[in-house]
Order: sequence, then structure tokens, then C-alpha cells
Amino acid sequence: MSSQTHYDVIIIGAGPAGLAAALYTARDRYSTLLLEKNGLPGGQIMLTEHIENYPGFEKVGGFEFVEHMKAQVTNFGAQIVTNQAVTKITRDDGKFVIETNHGEKTFTTQAVILAPGSDYRQLNLPGEAQMRQATRVSYCATCDGAFYKDKHVLTIGGGNTAVEDTVYLATRFCQKTTMIHRRREFRAQKVLVEELHAAAKEHNIDVKLPYVPVEIVPSADGQEIDHVKIKNVETQAVEELKVDGVFIFAGMVPNTKWLAELLPLDEHGYIPADPVTMKTCTPGVWVAGDCRQHAAMQLATATGDGVIAAMGLRDYFRDPSAWSVQPCEEENGGGY
Ligand SMILES: Cc1cc2nc3c(=O)[nH]c(=O)nc-3n(C[C@H](O)[C@H](O)[C@H](O)COP(=O)(O)OP(=O)(O)OC[C@H]3O[C@@H](n4cnc5c(N)ncnc54)[C@H](O)[C@@H]3O)c2cc1C
Repeated sequence: MSSQTHYDVIIIGAGPAGLAAALYTARDRYSTLLLEKNGLPGGQIMLTEHIENYPGFEKVGGFEFVEHMKAQVTNFGAQIVTNQAVTKITRDDGKFVIETNHGEKTFTTQAVILAPGSDYRQLNLPGEAQMRQATRVSYCATCDGAFYKDKHVLTIGGGNTAVEDTVYLATRFCQKTTMIHRRREFRAQKVLVEELHAAAKEHNIDVKLPYVPVEIVPSADGQEIDHVKIKNVETQAVEELKVDGVFIFAGMVPNTKWLAELLPLDEHGYIPADPVTMKTCTPGVWVAGDCRQHAAMQLATATGDGVIAAMGLRDYFRDPSAWSVQPCEEENGGGY
């Protein structure tokens, strides 16, 4: 690891948003450091074997995609330091001071790009992690729906995303879609629930209320789902459901708790920003990717955010006092 501790820009999180930002800042000849809490850069997209919706790539694995990004970024001189979870950012005499879980060493910088992403909220069901690994449990219909053409999937959840994405899966791909929700009423907007019921008449959607998932049981070789156990919360009766995949729509958790002292977060923990410039309420700090309020939670949009944030640096270094943005009073929080 280099002994350098001061950089023109420090990017927190080496997922797609952070790597895209680093490509632009390093290519613009700003000294650039990426701090990544995991042992490898890449972020969430490392968890998928098939990306089919990133422009320019018909099909590419997450790992391979990240290898390309990493090589491109480091070839332009950006440094990536892994196993460094940023725990605090403070301002001191016009600079930002960045502390990590390796308490003894701090970094300083003129500008910060926040790209720590969000994690899908998991239900921690028995079998969930194993079947996620085997790509039979998903948290994103846009990402993985196309892999379930003519298959039977189970969807879990009762919010807007759960309802919308169940309709999306049932009307575009699946031969059968079973949806469960733990209450008799959905949390989703009424108009979406009406769309669900309308779609259920024409497509093979079975809505079961009030049910909770109990266990995802893998096949003997651990590669497929054998069946899922679900429970009727009123009768306590447990049923077994044969499905090819499970989509869990339980929301997302932005990795931003540690940031509350630096800037305002919305009620869900997302970082408000000007959606045109990615500037936050704190001068010298940009945000990019899935941790941004109203982010679309996709690879292409995360990289796009990173590029926009990085391009803002040129104007900032020319005149740091010209920071103007009013994103801080947004009322409706949450991601896409
Ligand atoms: C299984 C799966 C499949 C997917 N498939 C697709 C797909 O096919 N197409 C598509 O468009 N999208 C897909 N997505 C979504 C896509 O991966 C995300 O939208 C994208 O990765 C967001 O990029 P990001 O850089 O904002 O965040 P992330 O990818 O979450 O990266 C954030 C990085 O920041 C690091 N970090 C967090 N906190 C700290 C900290 N305090 N200090 C230092 N580092 C920190 C994290 O370790 C992580 O590496 C998929 C997601 C998953 C999970």
C-alpha cells in the first residue's frame, strides 16, 4: 500500500459507481483514491453471473465486467485500497479527513465522491443465502426476470416494488407467478394493486394472503430450489410450493449510517442530491449510485452517476466557492 495519504479526490466504495467516477477523475489527472470495505472491488454486481442489460455487452459475468473496470481505472493511475471501511468523514481547514476501520491511519482530500451503495434487505430464511449463491433467489426483477422465461416463481412482499415487479414477471416472462404477503392488505398504492388484480385475470398469478415464507429447500445437488415452505399466518398451516426461483422484495438498506454527521440523509437513509449534478448539500461532496435518493438501482445508472459526479470536479477545482444546490429539502425519500 502506498504511503500517500492526501489525494485530490477520494471515492468511498469501489462498486460500479465508484469505479466509473475514478475512471474519469484519474483520466483527468486528479490524484484518485478508492477506499473499499470488501476484500475485492466490484460491489454488488460481483454477485451475478449474467448481466444482459448493460449497453454494449450482450452477456457478461459480473466478475469479468469488474475486472475490465478495475484494469481501466488503475491504468489511468487511480489507487484502490481494499479492506478499508470508511467510518467517519470530517472537515478540517478546508480539507476532508477520512477515517477507516484501520484507525491509526487517516486520509485527506479536497473532494469526496460517496458511492457506498445499498444492500438488498434479506429475510435470512433457511436456504436463502445458499440459493442466492446458486442464483435461484433474486432481489431484482429487472436484473433477473429474463432468466425465468416459462418458469414458476414465488414473489414475496407487499410494497410498491413487490406488486409492480410481480406484474412485470408474470406478464413478460413467467409461466406461473405465486405471490405471498404477510398481511391481507398490501402496502402498495391502490392503483398498483388494481393492476395486479387485473393482470391476475389474464396471466397465471396466484396471490396468497396472508402468508409468510418459512424455508427455501435446496435440491440434493444444491443447485436448484426443490421447494419453498410457506405458512398461512391465520391457520398456521404450512404448504410446500414447487418453484424455480424466488424473488424477495423487502426493500433496500443504503450503506450510509456512518454518514449522518457529514450530511443530511432522507428518512430511509438515502443521500439527497441534485439529480443533474450529483452534488450533495455539503460543498465538495458528491454522491453516485444506489445510495443516492431516487437512484434507479441499476448498473448503467450507477456508472452514469459516477461519471456525472466526476465531471463536476473540474468546475469545483476551478472555483470551490461556486457550489450551489438545493436538494436538501426533498420530502419523498427512498430509492426507485
Ligand atoms: C445479484 C445481483 C444481480 C444484479 N444484476 C444486475 C443486472 O443484471 N443489471 C443491472 O443493471 N444491475 C444489476 N444489479 C444491480 C447492480 O449491481 C447495482 O445497481 C450496482 O452494483 C450499484 O452500484 P454502486 O456502485 O452504486 O453500489 P455497490 O455495487 O453496492 O457498490 C458499493 C461498494 O461500496 C462499498 N462500501 C460500502 N460501504 C463502504 C464503506 N463504509 N467504506 C468503504 N466501502 C464501502 C461496498 O463494499 C461496495 O463494494 C444486480 C445486483 C445484484 C445484487
